[in-house]
Amino acid sequence: ATEDIKILLLENVNKTGLDRLEAQGYQVTFLKTSLPEDELIAKIRDYHVIGIRSKTKLTSRVLREAKNLIVIGCFCIGTNQVDTQYAAEHGIAVFNSPFSNSRSVAELVIGEIISLARQLGDRSNEMHRGTWNKVSNGCWEIRGKTLGIIGYGHIGSQLSVLAEAFGMTVVFYDTVNLMALGTAKQLPSLQALLRTADFVTCHVPELPETKNMIGRKEIEYMKEGSYLINASRGSVIEIPALIDAMRAGKIAGAALDVYPAEPGGNGDYFTNDLNPWAEDLRSLKNIILTPHIGGSTEEAQSAIGIEVSEALVRYVNEGSTLGAVNMPEVNLRSLTMDEANHVRVIYIHRNIPGVLRGVNAILGDHNVDKQMTDSRGDVAYLMADISDVNVTLIKDLYQRLESLSSRIMTRVLY
Ligand code: NAD
Repeated sequence: ATEDIKILLLENVNKTGLDRLEAQGYQVTFLKTSLPEDELIAKIRDYHVIGIRSKTKLTSRVLREAKNLIVIGCFCIGTNQVDTQYAAEHGIAVFNSPFSNSRSVAELVIGEIISLARQLGDRSNEMHRGTWNKVSNGCWEIRGKTLGIIGYGHIGSQLSVLAEAFGMTVVFYDTVNLMALGTAKQLPSLQALLRTADFVTCHVPELPETKNMIGRKEIEYMKEGSYLINASRGSVIEIPALIDAMRAGKIAGAALDVYPAEPGGNGDYFTNDLNPWAEDLRSLKNIILTPHIGGSTEEAQSAIGIEVSEALVRYVNEGSTLGAVNMPEVNLRSLTMDEANHVRVIYIHRNIPGVLRGVNAILGDHNVDKQMTDSRGDVAYLMADISDVNVTLIKDLYQRLESLSSRIMTRVLY
């Protein structure tokens, strides 16, 4: 029953998330901070659900003690702080919120395009130092200029719409063929984009193929006096090549929000100890350097709270793994569980031959309305809706499934 579900929320997750979980009637423990590993180990066994942000490390050592845990909610974008593989192998689903800040990033990039075109950062810095320096040389409107978007996903496509509203011409390059929004145009190659765009902005994921995707050769292709923006991942641009191109005047301005190595916390210095070219970067003109704030807005935080808490509720109440980062995505639409004698069986198991034969021998005595199975690596997830199970038989069903050797975790929802 929902009131038996115990949830531990750490790191002051957004109130939108807390409210949604409390509204379900779950027992929620809310802490503003993370917990040291030993305290976490002592506490975690009491909970069915844990919600964290990026500071709580859920290592295999911690998860080994999490005897009752069924799901982890990362109220953030990344999931590196969790041993997601260990979690999957122990039937613990992991959810995050990858796209709730897309709009925030797109808006930041629009701000950067105008700032670079007008050398806003330099003028503002000069005024802060007390210098009046009224310049129009090399300053431009963005109307009529071409924006080249590399990676036309959640962020790239949002940006496309905003840029057109400013009168920019939008071209994009993506490895997938995508429906262009507005009058944007997909180009057949990265080179074609680089040769056309006045502003080039990167919105690709961090992958082996995107590492140093913009290096010396690619910068060569770019237009004289063009601009380069990166708010995706620090590995995407080869920064020494950018520094040289800016010194040579080939690139007229740049904005970077992400770096190959980023300081651990606020107040830390951004120095050569961290990235060997940091001082060179800081000495350049018309470069906007921001500390990975692309998605850092109140709206994005509140959207994260909603997205992750809703995924947790769907998983706890209905077993749906849609959006899970470490499990196959399984969902059955109609919820017949409200009716008497209907149950939903969730059987998380090792992905080995012969499992379904064993499961169907157990479920086969009943009227299976719907069933779905999918696997991801070594772990498979089976969901079945059964319509003639007397509540007294539920325990028997559960125990028979639990006794199968392939079993990782069994849940019977009713
Ligand atoms: P997304 O997955 O929605 O879109 C990425 C797009 O890139 C997809 O359309 C994909 O097909 C395309 N792509 C993949 N490999 C490519 C390649 N080699 N060449 C061309 N296109 C390729 O991702 P998103 O949500 O738009 O995020 C984009 C990037 O922004 C990610 O790296 C993400 O980590 C980063 N991000 C940064 C911040 C920040 O704070 N600065 C915030 C959110 C996301």
